[in-house]
Amino acid sequence: MTFLNVVEIESALSGLASAYPSISHLITLPFFTVEGRQSHALLIGTGNGCPQTGVLIISGAHAREWGGPDICINFAADLLEAYSMGTGLVYGGTSYTAGQIKSIIERLDLIVFPDINPDGRNYSQNTYAMWRKNRNGASSGGQASKIGVDVNRNYDFLWDFNTAFAPGAQAGGTLASTSPSSDLFHGTAPFSETETKNVRWLFEQYPQINWFMDIHSYGGDILHSWGDDSNQTTTPDKNFTNAAWNGQRGLPGDAYGEYIGACDLANVASAGNDMGAAIAGVRGETYAVAQAFFLPSWGSTYPTSGASDDWAFSRYFANPSLKKVRSYCVEFNRVKTFFPTWADMQLIILDVDAGLVRLCLRALPALSLPSWWCHLSRWWNEAIWHRVFPPELWGPYGPWERIRRAVESIFIPIVRPIIRNFRGR
Ligand SMILES: [Zn+2]
Repeated sequence: MTFLNVVEIESALSGLASAYPSISHLITLPFFTVEGRQSHALLIGTGNGCPQTGVLIISGAHAREWGGPDICINFAADLLEAYSMGTGLVYGGTSYTAGQIKSIIERLDLIVFPDINPDGRNYSQNTYAMWRKNRNGASSGGQASKIGVDVNRNYDFLWDFNTAFAPGAQAGGTLASTSPSSDLFHGTAPFSETETKNVRWLFEQYPQINWFMDIHSYGGDILHSWGDDSNQTTTPDKNFTNAAWNGQRGLPGDAYGEYIGACDLANVASAGNDMGAAIAGVRGETYAVAQAFFLPSWGSTYPTSGASDDWAFSRYFANPSLKKVRSYCVEFNRVKTFFPTWADMQLIILDVDAGLVRLCLRALPALSLPSWWCHLSRWWNEAIWHRVFPPELWGPYGPWERIRRAVESIFIPIVRPIIRNFRGR
């Protein structure tokens, strides 16, 4: 065995879909790559007719980060086999019960899209291993050195980095580039690339998605929102939609920080910590959990524009009628190489898959509600609630949020000592 090639990834997906037809099916992505490849994803779940919670896991954006699709295929195969056999899953020192696996399969819509950039992977595996981008030559002017777009700088989140970010934020060379010869070339427009269009299409087709993971390497990091600037929880006006802060993003310790609600921040961090604990339990690999802007293994700030995880989380902030998607990026492999030996990769697959199962358990809805309840709540939201409190009022930057935060600031100082006193007894 070694790393799967692009044909093997596709046949693994269709093989799983035909081996487990009652709990999985193939999703055919509509946009063909420039080299004419059509991609597939696998939807895992029994489906109860009115799904509330979806989890989307993607990988392969960066061609040379070879192990990502292999992690995804093994993850899907493990869950499907364990559910069918009625067993749990054991990854070294981290294990899951049959009941936990059953919950994931029966209560989530889990979508695994292992290889979003097959042209790039094919080129990396056969011609030039260090290839990062896709193989779109439209901006190359016929020059081989100018082929390709960085798929993970092409999403619609502060894509126009020259306008949105401070000039000084470019210094670390992580943001993006307008030059086709750069490894960070962001394309000609947001979502100009078929690879990102396919990911966006999944979010549109499956609006129940509210957890998202993009698998990259390397470093050993679990990264959560945001990736453009340091998080702040106090000033909603400082946010990526506010043009008044253009030219000031991407630097730590200055006036601008990206707004995230205190509860949201606590939630994404705690689920990230759970994932990290599951990974550490397998064989002791310690992954650092941090907001993406402070990529720990990089050792300094790592501002990004047009990245998948920020875009997925930002959709709700830009349009509060969409689901809030808790978004992550994992940088697997603590050893700094894109090409571990297959023996090492097999161990890494166990690490990361143990973490992904844990993340799915975090994504489970608190209650398993019957499907009539789900239809009723959807009707209530659409027919009544959203008319009384339209999204622009109750959205994260709207007046409703300000009222909520004001009430919170009055009540928390009152309630906290009471709770503390209660715990003290
Ligand atoms: Zn990457």
